[in-house]
Amino acid sequence: MQTGKIGVTSENLFPIIKKFLYSDHDIFLREIVSNAVDATQKLRTLASKGEYNGDVTNLKVKVKLDKDAKTLTVSDNGIGMTAEEIEKYINQIAFSGANEFLEKYKNDANAIIGHFGLGFYSSFMVSKQVEIFTKSYQEGAKAVTWSCDGTPEYSIGETEKNDVGTDIVMHINNDSEEFLDESKIGEILEKYCKFLPVPVLFGKKTEWKDGKQVDTEEDNQINDTEPTWTKTPADLKDEDYKNFYRRLYPMADEPLFNIHLNVDYPFNLTGILYFPKIKNNFEVQKNKIQLYSNQVFVTDSVEGIVPEFLTLLHGVLDSPDIPLNVSRSYLQSDSNVKKISSHISKKVADRLSDIFKDNREDFEKKWNDLKIFIEYGMLTDEKFYERAMKIFLFKNTEGKCFTFEEYEKLIKDTQTDKDKKLVYLYTTNKEEQYTFVEDARNKGYDVLVLDDVLAPHLISQFEQKNTDKHFVRVDSDVVENLIKKDDSGQKELSWEEKQELSPVFQAVCPESNSHSFIIDFKELGEQASPMVITRSEWMRRMKDMSQMQGGMNFYGDMPESLNLVVNTTHPLVKKVLEAKDKKLGSTLEKATSEIEGKKAEISELEKAKEGKKEEEVPQADKEKLDDLNNELVKLEESKREKLTDFGKKNKLAKQMVDLALLANGMLKGADLDKFVKRSVELIK
Ligand code: ADP
Repeated sequence: MQTGKIGVTSENLFPIIKKFLYSDHDIFLREIVSNAVDATQKLRTLASKGEYNGDVTNLKVKVKLDKDAKTLTVSDNGIGMTAEEIEKYINQIAFSGANEFLEKYKNDANAIIGHFGLGFYSSFMVSKQVEIFTKSYQEGAKAVTWSCDGTPEYSIGETEKNDVGTDIVMHINNDSEEFLDESKIGEILEKYCKFLPVPVLFGKKTEWKDGKQVDTEEDNQINDTEPTWTKTPADLKDEDYKNFYRRLYPMADEPLFNIHLNVDYPFNLTGILYFPKIKNNFEVQKNKIQLYSNQVFVTDSVEGIVPEFLTLLHGVLDSPDIPLNVSRSYLQSDSNVKKISSHISKKVADRLSDIFKDNREDFEKKWNDLKIFIEYGMLTDEKFYERAMKIFLFKNTEGKCFTFEEYEKLIKDTQTDKDKKLVYLYTTNKEEQYTFVEDARNKGYDVLVLDDVLAPHLISQFEQKNTDKHFVRVDSDVVENLIKKDDSGQKELSWEEKQELSPVFQAVCPESNSHSFIIDFKELGEQASPMVITRSEWMRRMKDMSQMQGGMNFYGDMPESLNLVVNTTHPLVKKVLEAKDKKLGSTLEKATSEIEGKKAEISELEKAKEGKKEEEVPQADKEKLDDLNNELVKLEESKREKLTDFGKKNKLAKQMVDLALLANGMLKGADLDKFVKRSVELIK
């Protein structure tokens, strides 16, 4: 037996391993089993080249627990090692700038293991002693044993071993006895090794006997050596993809679509991505894309490898170009990884296009489930936006689907405004905005339903990219004004007329801290509603935005200002105006002429002042002017009061405002009750 010192330039490797790799202890088994799998695959390669004549039909890896001896053993019938190879591959660990690196990555076990090629040495995280029993495939090779107890000293010597291959015997240390537990080892193997390409055996298959689960004689293979993603898509049926999905996520609903990736240039990547049905947030977080490297599980945090919007997908990715020991910093800096990300984004877009082209009906059926991914992608990935534009679907209030292009054709003739802008009308809630939707549709316009959380963002993005297109919510104005066709036509009330009429209707608007009403008058025709409440597209967007940002800013704090548009051509409105003339006619005329008189006096005095300096104006004139102004304010006030008073008592006006509120879903509680009672009274 010989002894020697492991070639580590750093003082002592083992304390480092134990100290820094604390959080990720489980990986040691992945490393040891992967090495064993590699060894068997190397032997198969040698056999295929004719460099090895032994049997390679039964290559496998065995994991064995011995609770009494407190050992965990991983055995393979792979290529084995000669004493020289142990010297070269196990004893010499090339460290460069070790301390610096360790300091930098002290919280990232993966990076440390990967950087130093410490795969084998990770076994010391859980072992007080590790032994190797190995016999090389080479003709006449002698079996070798190596042992090390966690100090840089090791011993090496000859041993007895019949078969080619390697046993790694780990003497589990006292702090790590959990790794002597069968279910713990089973869990780790299931996590990291379930798709390894060589059979991995652990324990015995069990069966139910006399109401108990008991071991059979048959070895239990924990892995599927040919997982679905490694097969040729042409050989797979829809059912195979679904079965594989179930293997990955036993509890999840059936997926919507799958995408089988198979890339060999400029990097190797295979995998299957699934568009899941998302029932709730819980599942989104639980079921994640799993990343493999040559069928060895690496991680399920794929941020950085998969474009952000696709992290919501499920499935597996496998790339030998992604090293087993990925660290975050590695992923962020690696250009290959970036390429993988953009490639996946392209593949997903291509696949969606194919489904769209091949089976539009199916695509439309699944659209509601798909759109969240697609919208998220369009918002966060410029290239995806371009690609998805061709398959993005608009749904109108009738439930019909259109692509951007199709929709533009549909509305081009009817919904282009006087400035040549194409106006897209939309509703966020068909029920709540029913009257507006109906008005727009009766006018021959089409109305889209844009009701999900990402829609407002998508609208702004779309408008930014297409300045000749504009989205307007149906309730943002009366239907005549939604799409302005020309400037002429309407006879507007004069400012004075509006001044005089607005108190009448202001008086019947509900008082509230959160809303304020601006009264406007329009000739909307006898068939239209007598009054309509609208909220300006711009104001509403500002409000929505400030709400989404969660803070109370300028727009968030402002009371919502709504427009009450009074239709002056409507017979009922005319009736109110006539009643006003009848009741207040002479009083108003008198008030108006008094006001006019005061205004005339004021303007005369103002004129006399013109060109004079302040001190040149006689004191009496100044006082007179002040008095006149005060009187004018009082006169106007009293006129307004009379109008307000009239409005308050006018049941018809109140009724019409309530109807408009009702159409907007804004009439509630006591006001609604009063409305109903008043209605009954009016019908009587
Ligand atoms: P890596 O696997 O990254 O090269 P390791 O420390 O895990 O680093 O292993 C070092 C080397 O030891 C391997 O490259 C291989 O040559 C050899 N080795 C480890 N385990 C086995 C095994 N079970 N059979 C044959 N050779 C092995």
